[in-house]
Amino acid sequence: MPSHDNELYDITIIGGGPVGLFAAFYAGMRKMKTKIIDSLPELGGQLSTLYPEKYVYDMPGFAEVLASDLSNEMIKQGTRFGAQIALEETVRELETLEGGSFRLKTDKSEHLSKTVLISAGAGAFAPKTIDVPGVKDFEGAGVHFSVRDKSQFAGKKLLIVGAGDSALDWAMNLEPLSESITLIHRRDIFRAHEDSVDWLFNRSRVRYRLFTEMRRLEGNGHLQRVVVYDNRTNEEDTLDIDHCLINIGFQAHIGPVKNWGLNMQGNSIVVDAHCETSIPGVYAAGDICTYDGKIKLIATGVGEACTAVCYAKVRLDPKARTFPGHSTNMDLRL
Ligand SMILES: Cc1cc2nc3c(=O)[nH]c(=O)nc-3n(C[C@H](O)[C@H](O)[C@H](O)COP(=O)(O)OP(=O)(O)OC[C@H]3O[C@@H](n4cnc5c(N)ncnc54)[C@H](O)[C@@H]3O)c2cc1C
Repeated sequence: MPSHDNELYDITIIGGGPVGLFAAFYAGMRKMKTKIIDSLPELGGQLSTLYPEKYVYDMPGFAEVLASDLSNEMIKQGTRFGAQIALEETVRELETLEGGSFRLKTDKSEHLSKTVLISAGAGAFAPKTIDVPGVKDFEGAGVHFSVRDKSQFAGKKLLIVGAGDSALDWAMNLEPLSESITLIHRRDIFRAHEDSVDWLFNRSRVRYRLFTEMRRLEGNGHLQRVVVYDNRTNEEDTLDIDHCLINIGFQAHIGPVKNWGLNMQGNSIVVDAHCETSIPGVYAAGDICTYDGKIKLIATGVGEACTAVCYAKVRLDPKARTFPGHSTNMDLRL
């Protein structure tokens, strides 16, 4: 599918995370010509980018589901009516055109749409990195900021940098697979859940080093060694390492959204009971929107997506019903 075209869409969804995907499904069900734009190279938002190998327990209908499986199912569902997908494009500008439709300018092209749904989560996010020689050089060759495929760590010597829930969760997850895990933290206070910290100290085979930071990474085409140092004594040590997982959090870049003239509260877009923003015809749903009582969960976000799409539908066709009826009464069989 081409990533962009000059056609006018009924609804363009900025952000292909779980909320944008469900919005695309619902818009397809309501027979709207739909497009999704996402700055990432793949759909799925936080599910596939931040925690693909974690279990999610609070999705209706699933006692437990791996985030990557949930993401895959949501992608299947979100694209089943043929939504156009534009990946690796970041929307920079939102312009209202004469007649009330919109032009979205991205870093690559332009898109035209009668209505817009912003489901941009926390914005375009990027993992925090560490400015140490070798980190950039070995990215993709032993240095990782997220785990896409656990099997690459099987039988390998792994260094984890970080002390939050994510770093410790990965230590727990990868401990049975890897040959060894060393976890370094620049302080002695952990942000992770106390049970995880207790596991690290008392129940795991993970070697941990406190007050320890990386000095440089070395290797020959692939990471082989990490030189670490004690930040109290400056004493260095060289560790034989195959993979280094830097897990010190993410920085979300809300960036351009703030310049679109929308009523914002901090980094969130204020919406009304129809999930419409202060610009008529522009809706917002999921983590990026706010209203009195907002809770940031996938379960609530997908509900907001339905609301936004149904009101966008009525905006396009005032004779359409807001509530489309139940999906069980429609013939949507694959
Ligand atoms: C570790 C972790 C565990 C979690 N566990 C749970 C859980 O168990 N249950 C639960 O309900 N929630 C959980 N969450 C929260 C959940 O992931 C979010 O609530 C959910 O992802 C929000 O979905 P979204 O579609 O609104 O945004 P996101 O998933 O953030 O997707 C937004 C998408 O928009 C794209 N984007 C942003 N700006 C632009 C732009 N300008 N142009 C183009 N694209 C753009 C981004 O690239 C991204 O793909 C967890 C979150 C984390 C970090």
